[in-house]
Amino acid sequence: MIFQDSISGLNPLLKVGRQVAETLEIHTRLGREEIRRQVLELLAHVRLEDPEIAAGKYPHQLSGGQRQRVMIAMAIASDPKLLIADEPTTALDVTTQLQILGLLQDLQRETGMGMILISHDVSVIRQTCQEVLVMYSGQVMESGLADRVLRHPRHPYTAALIRSVAGVEQKGHPLHTIRGTVAPLEQRQKVEGCVFADRCQIRCERYREPVPLQTLEDGRQIRCHRKGGVENL
Ligand code: SF4
Repeated sequence: MIFQDSISGLNPLLKVGRQVAETLEIHTRLGREEIRRQVLELLAHVRLEDPEIAAGKYPHQLSGGQRQRVMIAMAIASDPKLLIADEPTTALDVTTQLQILGLLQDLQRETGMGMILISHDVSVIRQTCQEVLVMYSGQVMESGLADRVLRHPRHPYTAALIRSVAGVEQKGHPLHTIRGTVAPLEQRQKVEGCVFADRCQIRCERYREPVPLQTLEDGRQIRCHRKGGVENL
């Protein structure tokens, strides 16, 4: 797993090379020399310049992007079948974000591992994922092929989310938002019907009834009482 915040995900008291080595010590039976060799190989693999020097640095001596590369090196050290990346680029500037996403995709292609990317950034998901699950309050609201779902959303929440992404064409116009806020957890846990109802722009009459997932003609699923979902909301 790659965590969101690399500064708190790494131990500030240990050099990063030591932290990557720790992963190999736990997951393999390799000797000291071989571990050292593999640490440098992993750091080179995640495109850290001069791995020998980088391995001897503490986390605070590296940039956010370099630290995220170390986190990725640790995550792939045990040769995983599945990588869970939780907002891996949130704290990074746009250029570094692109580099890290490119690196993750390359690693995925090379190794064949699966990847679950958790993100609130629609453009990151569009660039990176084949399939998407749009979650609200712990429930799947819509799922299907990422390109299809994000281009033509059919659940009121997905549609409102996409509309809320600011674009240059909106210059001079008010930004779209989703009205209201996410209710406190205790309140949401008591809801038996639609968890999105309080914020739904087109709330239906049946919103108090439990909402099962419905499968649409193109194979995607939505959790909404409206048959076929919405179009052009
Ligand atoms: S079930 Fe009703 S209230 Fe809930 S998202 Fe669909 S239309 Fe809106």
